[in-house]
Amino acid sequence: MRLIRLGRQGAERPHLLLDDGRVLDVGDRIGDIDPAFFARGGLDQLRGLERSATGAVPMPDLRMGSPVARPGKIACVGLNYAEHVAESGAEMPTEPVVFFKASNTLVGPNDDVHIPRGSTKTDWEVELAVVIGRSCRYLETDAEALASIAGYMVSHDVSEREFQLERGGQWVKGKSCETFNPAGPWLVTADAVADPGDLDLWLDVNGRRRQTGSTRTMIFGVAEIVRYLSQFMVLDPGDIINTGTPPGVALGQPDKPYLRPGDVVELGIGGLGSQRQRFVAAP
Ligand code: ZN
Repeated sequence: MRLIRLGRQGAERPHLLLDDGRVLDVGDRIGDIDPAFFARGGLDQLRGLERSATGAVPMPDLRMGSPVARPGKIACVGLNYAEHVAESGAEMPTEPVVFFKASNTLVGPNDDVHIPRGSTKTDWEVELAVVIGRSCRYLETDAEALASIAGYMVSHDVSEREFQLERGGQWVKGKSCETFNPAGPWLVTADAVADPGDLDLWLDVNGRRRQTGSTRTMIFGVAEIVRYLSQFMVLDPGDIINTGTPPGVALGQPDKPYLRPGDVVELGIGGLGSQRQRFVAAP
């Protein structure tokens, strides 16, 4: 099942995206795709609606929002692909490197991204995002962890490297700038993803391929990440976890080709759809 949210920022309505490309507005039945929706088992309610598909229409020409509204938190794993660790000049982690991103960074998959005021090192990171479906604490097994996942989506963990690495303190300053987490286009439910450990990722800047990777080469896999995080924090329904980026970021290139106003970034993951953002100077 694929879930999308259509409409202008702050007024999106949830829809099911059917296999034939039509959409079904489910806003009157479920409210929104937010933490409360997952907590009350809303996905099961949608399965019945998908089967009947009464009222489905062709995809309207509307903005797409983040497939998930107002998550309680966005937790991220850094340095989770060996070649990205090397290009970052970091040490190979022996446990997942965990940081947070402000949850109001979420925007739609094709929205403009703001290059922050004063930034000279805005960088790209294509990532697989996990959406949590139920409350998780002290998970013991990978099976429990996988059963706690509502679905997956494409996520762009936009990063400002000077704020992240040169301004002291924690990475959060370089990760939480306005519009720094485009998500979507779809939330693909976990049952529709055969193996989250075998997904291809890619990212282009101005039409030039910059990142190519596969979740096969993650240091810590999806189940391990969810299980691990639950030892340190309670994961709530609707929480988003960005699982790390493969090699090819600007930070790792000899010429450091950081993003400038007017640049266009396109990225995607096999089976999860693609995004396209124009980068603009923050107003
Ligand atoms: Zn990242």
